[in-house]
Amino acid sequence: MKLICIGRNYTDHIEELENEKPTDPVIFMKPDTSILLKKQPFFIPDFSENVHHEVEILIKIKKVGKYIDKKFAHKYYDEISLGIDFTARDLQSALKEKGLPWEKAKSFDGAAVIGNWVAKDSFSDVNNIDFHLDKNGEVVQKGNTKFMLWKIDELIEYVSKYFTLKIGDVIFTGTPAGVGAVKADDVLTGYISNKQFFSIKVK
Ligand code: ZN
Repeated sequence: MKLICIGRNYTDHIEELENEKPTDPVIFMKPDTSILLKKQPFFIPDFSENVHHEVEILIKIKKVGKYIDKKFAHKYYDEISLGIDFTARDLQSALKEKGLPWEKAKSFDGAAVIGNWVAKDSFSDVNNIDFHLDKNGEVVQKGNTKFMLWKIDELIEYVSKYFTLKIGDVIFTGTPAGVGAVKADDVLTGYISNKQFFSIKVK
């Protein structure tokens, strides 16, 4: 299975967005080895001094598809979760500066947190899901899927032009504002509405 991640999919200034919407979503991937195993702590890798949390809504693909029209995209996933796209920001900045791919900064072991899955049908509207991330009990990021530049169905349409989606693939749908560094002993807890989806300790 593969993890397909979307970059820059939220803005806090939604009004300005009509004018500034980029022409295409930013896409990158993480390998399955980047998934943080359940109940394991997240170890800050020794090659970074500045690992950031990015909390994101996740969707799980349930049907093989290619060139999926957004009208039918809802048939291709039935579970939703919350996760973290850990990013070695210092490394990413250095790579970006040189125009190099981001993989080392995004795809290292443990860089993908996947919370518990719940049925899509348990949400009355997938384009209106409130979520937030707490660090040591304080809210550090909060978002709502209604502020996505590209909504879930549009992401499925776009991504499936390039990659065949397979059963079990996960799409990380991008992070809202508030990303920040983690340090040893931090506890990161993710919520959709007020329901906890994961809690992880940083080491
Ligand atoms: Zn991200």
